[in-house]
Amino acid sequence: MPIFEFECGECGIRFEELVAAGESVACPDCGAERSRRLYSEVSPPGRQPRGAGVRSDESRRREREAARQDRITESRKRRAAGEKP
Ligand SMILES: [Zn+2]
Repeated sequence: MPIFEFECGECGIRFEELVAAGESVACPDCGAERSRRLYSEVSPPGRQPRGAGVRSDESRRREREAARQDRITESRKRRAAGEKP
């Protein structure tokens, strides 16, 4: 999937998102679905959208994984605390 740059119609921030052609995305900041695609600035020189996308996917995955581990640890602690009066 190609990476596109969007500009939010509500708050005006710009963000990059991997989407199928013709799809619109919600603003990651305010959640508005009035983002518009910027056709002119898809690949600024010196940047590698594909690599950046992969990296951010990877870091998002790691964050999710870490959050999951935290929840597991937390629920184990609660369970341990509950079992010992
Ligand atoms: Zn916004």
